[in-house]
Amino acid sequence: MSVTVTQAYRFALDPTPAQERDLASHAGAARVAFNWALARVRAVLGQRAAERSYGIAEELLTPPLSWTLPALRREWNAAKDEVAPWWRANSKESYSSGLDACARGLKNWSDARKGQRAGRPVGFPRFRSKRRTTPSVRFTTGTIRVEGDRHHVTLPRLGPLKLHESARKLARRLDNGTARILSATVRREAGRWFVSFTCQVQRRQRRPRQPDAVVGVDVGVRHLAVLSTGELVDNPRHLGTASRRLRRLAKAASRKVGPDRRTGQRPSNRWERARRALAAAHRRVADLRRDGLHKLTTRLAGEYGTVVIEDLNVAGMVRNRRLAKAISDCGFGALRRQLDYKTSWGGGRLAVADRWYPSSKTCSGCGAVKAKLPLRIRTFTCQRCGMVADRDFNAARNLAQLVVAGSGPETKNGRGADRKTHSSGPVAAKRQPRTASAGKTGTVPPQGGTVDQELTHAH
Ligand SMILES: [Zn+2]
Repeated sequence: MSVTVTQAYRFALDPTPAQERDLASHAGAARVAFNWALARVRAVLGQRAAERSYGIAEELLTPPLSWTLPALRREWNAAKDEVAPWWRANSKESYSSGLDACARGLKNWSDARKGQRAGRPVGFPRFRSKRRTTPSVRFTTGTIRVEGDRHHVTLPRLGPLKLHESARKLARRLDNGTARILSATVRREAGRWFVSFTCQVQRRQRRPRQPDAVVGVDVGVRHLAVLSTGELVDNPRHLGTASRRLRRLAKAASRKVGPDRRTGQRPSNRWERARRALAAAHRRVADLRRDGLHKLTTRLAGEYGTVVIEDLNVAGMVRNRRLAKAISDCGFGALRRQLDYKTSWGGGRLAVADRWYPSSKTCSGCGAVKAKLPLRIRTFTCQRCGMVADRDFNAARNLAQLVVAGSGPETKNGRGADRKTHSSGPVAAKRQPRTASAGKTGTVPPQGGTVDQELTHAH
């Protein structure tokens, strides 16, 4: 059996200097089209608002401008000789990509205003400045392919571009017909160009090695994660060194003369250089972290039938500056996203504990809940049953037990756990109470007042 999924393949590029200029020109063209469309829409909106304020009848107002992609494209094609007489220098896809981004931004803003969009409010799109925008351009039509040598990709107008690494994984799928490229996006991040292919991929439906096993995962700060099996997953190697380097470079950059809007101060060359080094260091830390998370989530999804994590309000926590570093460093959001799709590809499921479930403050031995457990206290000590365990391990064990809580009569309502748990992901149907046999509890230890000293970890 196979499932069709949308998957991205991303590769670093090694363009020649001429190609780099071409890439920058295409990304610039996308930006120009974006800004042009936004200015048009703003002008018409402003004009109509002004006319209305003079009491002009609704039917006599300047006609509204549609901001769908086809409408913006028609407008652009009529105006491009005037606005961008050099338009022939770039693929038409570059303009289309800018107009598309503008259309989407406007749609998100208007949907949010009408209350048709979930999530935080979306502001009116802003103009894209040359300095501050990440150069990017998306190709959806024309020649987009991976070359036979697997070390080059061909994009419309840009021709063959050398890849920094082999694209064999994608090429193999393209060759045997299990993948189809939908679009290619080229971006420059921290001074380096990347191409990302969005593909429709046919994946074989797999089964986890232990389909009945449940694992709770607590993402920590000292460790990448702590599992309910007692395993500590270390942070990626070299992450500490990379983070220290990042801090040092940030400090160095702050001592140089940067740009200042109020005084019109232009940044110094030294500042520019320091900024580039800092961006590269950021990139390295992010790469190491992403790599570690991918390895962990692949392993978890391949091994366990059910993976249980906490539902953390990441957006809310990142706004709290003191927690922000630790949280965004560990990539909770990325962990959840990766587990979500990897468990569904792997035939397992992801269960997400309720946001208010006190996984750290609950004793995984007897279920007693503490009123308080400050973050700095790394060991959980139960006053009721005397269990002593590493804080994160205790939390992970609680998470694992949430899912099996519905499986036996004596544990069912222990902490109201089954009411507070919900599952996510396409395969993640919630297991009904009583439908799971006792044998399905897998790796989760039985509940009770046992003091489990062997599983204790000291730091
Ligand atoms: Zn206890």
